[in-house]
Amino acid sequence: MSFVEDRAREIAQRHNFSEIRIPLLERIDLFVRSTGETSDIVEKQMYAFVDRDEAETTVALRPEGTPSVVRAYIEAGLDRSAPEQRFFYSGPVFRRERPQKGRYRQFYQFGVEVFGRADAACDADLLIMIDDLCRDLRLPVRFEINSIGCKDCRPAFRAALIAWGRSHWDELCDDCHNRIERNPLRLLDCKIDVKLAESAPSSLDYLCEACRAHFGVVQELISAAGVKFLVNPHLVRGLDYYSRTAFEVTADGLGAQSTVVGGGRYDGLVEAMGGSSVPGIGFGIGVDRMALALQAAGLAPSDAPDAAVIAMGPAAMRQAIVVARDLRASKLKVELLSPERKLKALLGRASKIGARFAVIIGDDELARSVVQLRDLKHSSQNEVAVADAPRAIAAALAG
Ligand code: ATP
Ligand code: MG
Repeated sequence: MSFVEDRAREIAQRHNFSEIRIPLLERIDLFVRSTGETSDIVEKQMYAFVDRDEAETTVALRPEGTPSVVRAYIEAGLDRSAPEQRFFYSGPVFRRERPQKGRYRQFYQFGVEVFGRADAACDADLLIMIDDLCRDLRLPVRFEINSIGCKDCRPAFRAALIAWGRSHWDELCDDCHNRIERNPLRLLDCKIDVKLAESAPSSLDYLCEACRAHFGVVQELISAAGVKFLVNPHLVRGLDYYSRTAFEVTADGLGAQSTVVGGGRYDGLVEAMGGSSVPGIGFGIGVDRMALALQAAGLAPSDAPDAAVIAMGPAAMRQAIVVARDLRASKLKVELLSPERKLKALLGRASKIGARFAVIIGDDELARSVVQLRDLKHSSQNEVAVADAPRAIAAALAG
């Protein structure tokens, strides 16, 4: 998991994002106002409870990061003083889910938010950023994108969905019966009525000229940059605040929980939360799922050490502890083993932790300032001078 996060951080920094630290606990109203009263998250997935302060404030463990970032942005007055901002955050989020593979009640998100950019190049650059990460991790993924329109054209699409929902009433699940009036876009996001949703109206047929042009440029630019994608006119996002570009990235090997990144544009959110009218766009990476997908594809990096350092007795340990330190100074990953066990047991430990080399120092080696370098992968051994040990190991690992 930390591997995915480390790579994401590096790529976010390369795309000129700065880190923002947001609270784990917020007043519940923040999520009701931004995530949306009728979203699954607010309706049934939040861990919320009454605090023992005088006002008996209802607080919630954050179920996502975007609302807190937007709140911080508005509270700092950036929407007025310096609206164009680029943030990333990383950490746990909490949702009352039915736990299963790739779906947990505490999971980890790495998210980015861009404020003050309405142009399609910004959307494209964020998709390219996700592509950069997946290429860096060598993880094969599929991009699906869509446009769900804006405040001008979405009402017609919404009305078409309501009409479609009503005409299929008997075939829809109970949740969808509730969604029809309250949040009809979510009819398309139903995990039960998947097949049925294929006959639903397509958002693309309802886009206004401006939204259509915007979506066209997004596709043109990501194509120019070599990102392969599919337009899925039934893709909507689970949260209420999205507009125009919406996207999901999926990976293989995860069963039903195959979406590893979700995001999109939310041009009305800052204003709806009491700020100025500033456009925004962002995405959230499901870090746990991305790590699972890497594992499933056999791409998870090995966390085995390069070497285990073994001292035969207390005198040799004074040398071994310095050798271990020198090896680590050469960026090698090294575990120093206990001197209180027999060589056989120590070699057993070295194999168990997957060390590529055992660096063995006894009294004889100590006297001659050498170490025995045992290659545990090729079962070979040779003697090298203490000072040469880091270089010898690095060379063998590189070769
Ligand atoms: P899903 O449709 O799978 O419930 P979502 O639409 O609720 O996903 P988002 O709110 O967009 O997901 O969160 C962004 C990413 O976080 C998802 O694409 C997914 O990779 C990950 N994610 C969401 N819920 C969970 C969970 N319960 N456990 C692990 N990862 C999750
Ligand atoms: Mg969900």
